Amino acid sequence: MENKLIARTLRLLSQLMELHEVNPFKIKSVANAAFKVDKLPFKLVDKPLDELEKIDGIGKSLAGKIAELLTTGTMVELEELLTSTPPGVVEMLGIKGIGPKKIAVIWHDLNIESIGELYYACNENRLIEAKGFGLKTQEEIRKAIEFKMAANGKFLYAKVEQLAIDMQELIQKLLPEADIMICGEYRRRLEIINELCLVIGTGDTDEAIGILQQDSFLQNIRVNENTLSGETEGGLLTHLHVVDIAHFNTQVFIQTGNDEHVEAVLSRIKENNLRVESEEEIYEKAGLPFIEPELREGTDIIAKAIESELPELITYNDLKGTLHNHSTWSDGVNTLEEIVPYLRDELKLEYLGICDHSKSAFYAKGLSIERVLQQHEEIDHINKNNPDFHIFKGIESDILNDGSLDYPDEILARFDFIVASVHSNLKMAEDKATARLIKAIENPYTTILGHPTGRLLLSRNGYSIDYKKVIDACADNGVVIEINANPLRLDLDWRWHQYALDKGVWLSINPDAHRNEGHLDMHYGILAARKGGLYKERCLNALNLAEIKQVFEKRKANISK
Ligand SMILES: [Zn+2]
Ligand SMILES: [Zn+2]
Repeated sequence: MENKLIARTLRLLSQLMELHEVNPFKIKSVANAAFKVDKLPFKLVDKPLDELEKIDGIGKSLAGKIAELLTTGTMVELEELLTSTPPGVVEMLGIKGIGPKKIAVIWHDLNIESIGELYYACNENRLIEAKGFGLKTQEEIRKAIEFKMAANGKFLYAKVEQLAIDMQELIQKLLPEADIMICGEYRRRLEIINELCLVIGTGDTDEAIGILQQDSFLQNIRVNENTLSGETEGGLLTHLHVVDIAHFNTQVFIQTGNDEHVEAVLSRIKENNLRVESEEEIYEKAGLPFIEPELREGTDIIAKAIESELPELITYNDLKGTLHNHSTWSDGVNTLEEIVPYLRDELKLEYLGICDHSKSAFYAKGLSIERVLQQHEEIDHINKNNPDFHIFKGIESDILNDGSLDYPDEILARFDFIVASVHSNLKMAEDKATARLIKAIENPYTTILGHPTGRLLLSRNGYSIDYKKVIDACADNGVVIEINANPLRLDLDWRWHQYALDKGVWLSINPDAHRNEGHLDMHYGILAARKGGLYKERCLNALNLAEIKQVFEKRKANISK
């Protein structure tokens, strides 16, 4: 065993001791030993116990621990501490800039047990209220987690968006005459980006490659024929395909769809050395209608195109309102009075469905029955004063372990609509998790199933569910499924949208906003929904105010029957 590994193990031991509030002197001696071992000029592995004891800064008790580590590969004390700590909390100890004391607060006071949950809590502004935290610490933690997430070369779409646009602009400045298009996973709007791909069409490819090579916006540049590859400062793999302008559109097509799709389309075209004025022309030559970039995954969509069954994809402007959002009544940042003018005047929307947390979500200041009634009074008051806008009374009801909702029926009956979501016990086995969701879906008060799997992209897998059973249950009970638009969630996954649509299920693009700007996440929801094939006729919040009012009223009338 190398000294480095011994030092690292001792450091973990000291961190865990601090997390569990062991005697401070003991913690200090272990931390000191970790530091010392790291700096030693000789290897510890060959030293007998009596020599270990004599090393300055180690001493008798730690020499014993190191000897135990060297012979058994671990230490009993370490193992005991590890068993009483959730693995996600241990992982948090590896985030730069937060010490064990803060992690103890995060774990015990905020109930957060994984890095993904911690990141989400930062984005929801939940850390600033915890003991010893402030806005600055929250920002530092958020940055440190983003850095850690980027370490494996995968990035959230939302984190790549600005970077890609900036890069395109930068290249345009270097090559003012060139045509440039961002293609690949980005143009297909995948929720996670592994590599960025730009196609650059120019009159002189050699000259362009020379210019791009000189500039240092990519690190570790390699050139392979006409492709430059390198990494951005943040570690995102990037390919620049430089082509003669005459082949620009063909190359854009080739670099956009996934391989299966591109090959299938090209196989329908007889010509070689394809030169086209637009991508439309390629599809035309293939005897197909134009297929939107986000749908170019595989060949199913080609079969649809042949049958003239391509959907007219939903756009952001189709949205008329925003459902499932939080205010200061629970864990949101803005008051209802602040949210209404923002949505009406800035975003030009007709309605808000407010869904603060229900009473079991105590960490998010979930509403007691008394507070629900108070909030309803405030909503009535605001609605009266704003005849050109409407707030619907909603709640994000926790789905409890047995699948029931969080209030008695007489309270549930007071809401215009209910989003039912799971926030606790996320490690349930698939059959149990599925049964829990289905019980909630069968509850006549449930209008929308919120973030169906609880996933946090790149940081927490959702609980596994039987998608088909859950979607079928929504179809049978007329329950709408949410596409949670937070770029970390995008849950229901786009890969299941078509199945839901085929079963007759409606979808709703819900921002789950915790502050005014959070409503803008609906842009990401739209991208995911388009990728899934959603059209406005099946999107709940594409209904106008009069239409959605009717839908809610009709559903409520059915319950009382
Ligand atoms: Zn939620
Ligand atoms: Zn929510």
